[in-house]
Amino acid sequence: MYNPQSLRATEFIDHEEVLASLAYADTHSADAASIDRILAKAEQRKGLNHREASVLLSCNMPDKIQAMYALAEQIKKDFYGNRIVLFAPLYLSNYCINSCVYCPYHRQNSHMPRKKLSQADIVREVTALQDMGHKRLAIEAGEDPVINPIEYILESIETIYGIRHRNGAIRRVNVNIAATTVENYRKLKDAQIGTYILFQETYHKQSYEKLHPAGPKHDYAWHTEAMDRAMEGGIDDVGLGVLFGLESYRYEFAALLMHAEHLETVHGVGPHTISVPRVKKADDINPASFNNGIDDDTFAKICACIRLAVPYTGMIISTRESQAVREKVIHLGVSQISGASRTSVGGYATPVPEDEASAQFDVSDRRTLDEVVAWLMGMEFIPSFCTACYREGRTGDRFMSLCKNGQILNCCHPNALMTLKEYLEDYASPQTKAIGEALIARELEKVPSINVRNIARRNLEAIGQGKRDFRF
Ligand code: SAM
Repeated sequence: MYNPQSLRATEFIDHEEVLASLAYADTHSADAASIDRILAKAEQRKGLNHREASVLLSCNMPDKIQAMYALAEQIKKDFYGNRIVLFAPLYLSNYCINSCVYCPYHRQNSHMPRKKLSQADIVREVTALQDMGHKRLAIEAGEDPVINPIEYILESIETIYGIRHRNGAIRRVNVNIAATTVENYRKLKDAQIGTYILFQETYHKQSYEKLHPAGPKHDYAWHTEAMDRAMEGGIDDVGLGVLFGLESYRYEFAALLMHAEHLETVHGVGPHTISVPRVKKADDINPASFNNGIDDDTFAKICACIRLAVPYTGMIISTRESQAVREKVIHLGVSQISGASRTSVGGYATPVPEDEASAQFDVSDRRTLDEVVAWLMGMEFIPSFCTACYREGRTGDRFMSLCKNGQILNCCHPNALMTLKEYLEDYASPQTKAIGEALIARELEKVPSINVRNIARRNLEAIGQGKRDFRF
């Protein structure tokens, strides 16, 4: 019954096909010749299907795993260069009428203080985020059609885009809100959102229904078909993800790739990003109560295999992960990370103590943005605050075709350097600034075209003299 062209969740995420893929992976994962054949295909940088990628994920041969890691790192460099895009989440409201058993926002949680930001609160939060140097946000909200209606989300987006504080401006607002109607997706598109992000949590229908016992999110088809409605509503960039720890990671992995194949088949464009969150401790939530937790090595293998399977899709790691884990997976194909995140509603303007009662989950990486930027540069990555693709309309299939042709590298590299320069001028500590200036000088020499290099050099000088260009 597997039919990637179908618009029905149970057909494009066909349970029997997932199980057949796992059985196929079991029979091939110890066969070195099969692994080499799949790795050779991955080397062509055109991706892998869910069965092939599942074989790699099941392989436990250390030398083959090393080969996967090396290839994942190389593919990331080929498509994205050494840029790492930075963003921060902004929690608008933790009112929620769902009952997700892994999420502290669940409606039965009566002791968590409920908060919803007013527009004035949003100005304070965004001002604090701009003062750190953030340019790209992902807004998050619980599902509550009465307290957090779509009009509230739209008004909040307008407020965020309108805030100008010193040289700060939020240039891209990604949105992570519950599955909604085509009409509402069209409104989000008109509000000029960047990516619409929705985590599937689990693709396993039976588990999904148990983990979401009540509320609108209980409906597996409504949730799983959301990206099709988003694309019908005109949103080109959608972000997938599963919450690892809820179900068997091999099941989730195969199904996640089937979802990506479905989007590509039906809409001609795959997911813009894939997020890989793991269940974390939170108010009223103990991750140990879920039986499918994965260790750091398995997590790393998942990241590498995603990179091999969908080479042109961005991969996001949040501050749910520690510095050490982030340091490992950033070499395996991750292209975006959050920095200095607060997962409580109002947590940027009014930082609250460690045991933040309204936080969505515990943050493992608690460093400041300045520390994260310096850390990335210490590993020879370029922290990028660039949003130019989105500004220039390079989204959806236009972004994908540039990315697949390896062209993104030509325009993104100098743009990333310019946004880093803005960050260094406006927000960095003196030590970070010194590291950054040296990095920019080295990286500028790597721009292949002399013309582009000269233009970039002139722009960098202008930024040093105070000029700001809001096209990036
Ligand atoms: N209400 C929206 C929805 O239903 O998709 C937005 C969800 S929430 C603000 C963002 C994501 O946080 C969820 O999709 C879920 O994957 C993740 N999350 C929830 N509880 C978590 C936990 N205990 N640890 C880690 N991530 C969690």
